[in-house]
Amino acid sequence: MSADPRGQLAQLPAVDALVRDERLSDLVATHGAPVVVDAARTVVEEARAEALEGRPLATTEDLCERVNRRFVIRDRRRVRRVINATGVVLHTNLGRAPLSAEARHAVAEAAGYATVEYDLETGGRGSRTHHLGELAAELCGTPAATVVNNGAAALVLVLAALAHDREVVVSRGELVEIGGSYRLPEVMTAAGSRLVEVGTTNRTRIADYRAAVSERTGLLLKVHRSNFRIVGFTEEATLAELVALGRERDRPVVHDLGTGALRPARTGPLAGEPSVEDAVRAGVDLVVVSADKLLGGPQAGVIAGDAALVERCRRHPLARAVRVDKLQRAALEATFAAHRRDPVPVDVPTVAMLHADTDELHERAARMAAELGPAARVVATTGLVGGGALPGTELPGWGVALDVADPDALAAGLRDVDPPVIGRVDEGALVLDLRTVPPPQDTELVDLVLLARG
Ligand SMILES: *Cc1c(COP(=O)(O)O)cnc(C)c1O
Repeated sequence: MSADPRGQLAQLPAVDALVRDERLSDLVATHGAPVVVDAARTVVEEARAEALEGRPLATTEDLCERVNRRFVIRDRRRVRRVINATGVVLHTNLGRAPLSAEARHAVAEAAGYATVEYDLETGGRGSRTHHLGELAAELCGTPAATVVNNGAAALVLVLAALAHDREVVVSRGELVEIGGSYRLPEVMTAAGSRLVEVGTTNRTRIADYRAAVSERTGLLLKVHRSNFRIVGFTEEATLAELVALGRERDRPVVHDLGTGALRPARTGPLAGEPSVEDAVRAGVDLVVVSADKLLGGPQAGVIAGDAALVERCRRHPLARAVRVDKLQRAALEATFAAHRRDPVPVDVPTVAMLHADTDELHERAARMAAELGPAARVVATTGLVGGGALPGTELPGWGVALDVADPDALAAGLRDVDPPVIGRVDEGALVLDLRTVPPPQDTELVDLVLLARG
C-alpha cells in the first residue's frame, strides 16, 4: 500500500462517477463514452499521484476541467482549415495545393455513390482509371498515361514494372531526397531495382551512361533536381542524348520530373523550368510527375508516355495497391479540365497565387494595414513556390507586418484562433504574406488578427 499522508484518496471520485458528471455530458455525446472513460481514468490517476506526493487533492470540478482540456488539445490535432499567410504556395505541411472550387465541388459529388467503376451505357463494370488516364495523356501530349496515388508511387510502379531485378542507370548528380522518407537509392531497392550510379555529383556525360548500359540494364532514369541546385563547374547529359542512347541500346528512358511545368515558360515564375512538353518532344519514353506540385490538384502521380510501357505499369500487380480513390479522381478530373481549357488556369488556386499581380497584392495589403491600425504596415515579401519545388525561385509580393512587442507570442495566438492563421516572424515583426491568402479571405483574416491581438 502506498502512503496516503492526508487520507484523501477516498475522496477522489470513481472513474464512472466522474464520467456521469453533467460537466462531461457534452464530451460523451460528441466522442462516445469509452474514450471519455479512458481520459477520466488518466486524470483520476494523475490526481491520485499528486495527492500521494502531498499536493492538495483536485476537486471534481478540476477533474472535469482537465478531462475537457484533454479533448480540446486532441481536437486541435484533427485536419482543420487554416489561412496560409506564409507566402509558400505549395506548403507541404499545410496540404500542398488548395483545390479549385470546381475540384471541391467534384469531390463533394463523388463522396456519395458515384460512377467510380460503373459504365452508365452498359450498366456494367467500368474502369476506374481508364478515363482519367486518357485525360492525363491528352494534357501531357502523350499516346497514353495512367494515374496513381502520388508521385513517389508512380516512380515505384515504373521501376517495379520495367526494371524489377534489373539495373537502373542514374547520374550521381540526381540521387535526390524528397522529404526524409523518399530517397531515390532506397526507393529503388524497395522496388527491386539495382541502382547503377554514373558520373560525379557535378558532371555527368552521356559517355558515362553509355559505359554503364549492359544486358542487365532495365532503364535509363533522369531525375529532375526539383528541390536543390548544382551550380558552378557542371555538366549533364541532355534528354536528347539520353533518348538517342536508349534507342540505340533498346532501353526505355524515364524522366522523373516530379514538378516543373506542363509547358515551357519563357517568362513568369516557372520560366526556365523543365517541362513535360520538352521531355515528350525530346522523345522520352515515360515521364513521371506529381499532380499536386505540377498542376495544383489533389495528391496524385501521373505516368505518361509510350502506350505499351504505360500498359505494363497499369497491369502490374502493384498498380492496385497504389491506385487513386474516388475523391482524388474527382478532383483530378476537374483539375485536368482546368489546365486543358487554359494554359494559365487562374481558377486553380496555386496557379493564381504563382501568377498573382503584385499591384493587386499591394492594394490588398494597404487596405488590410489600414483596417488593422497603427501597429500594422505594408511590407515587401518574398514568397516561395515551396513543396521542395523550384528552390531558386523567389516570388516578390506584398503583405502586412505587425509590429508587436512579442511577435512569437502573436504567431502562437494566431495559431490558436479558428480557423488558425499561419504567418511568419521576420525581423522582429509578424508578417502576413497575402500571396497565399485567397482575396475573399481578407476580411476574415483581419477579424482573426484583431481577435488574436486582443
Ligand atoms: C515531388 C517529387 C517526387 C514525389 O512526388 P510526390 O507526389 O510527392 O510523391 C518524385 N520525384 C521528384 C523529382 C519530385 O520533385
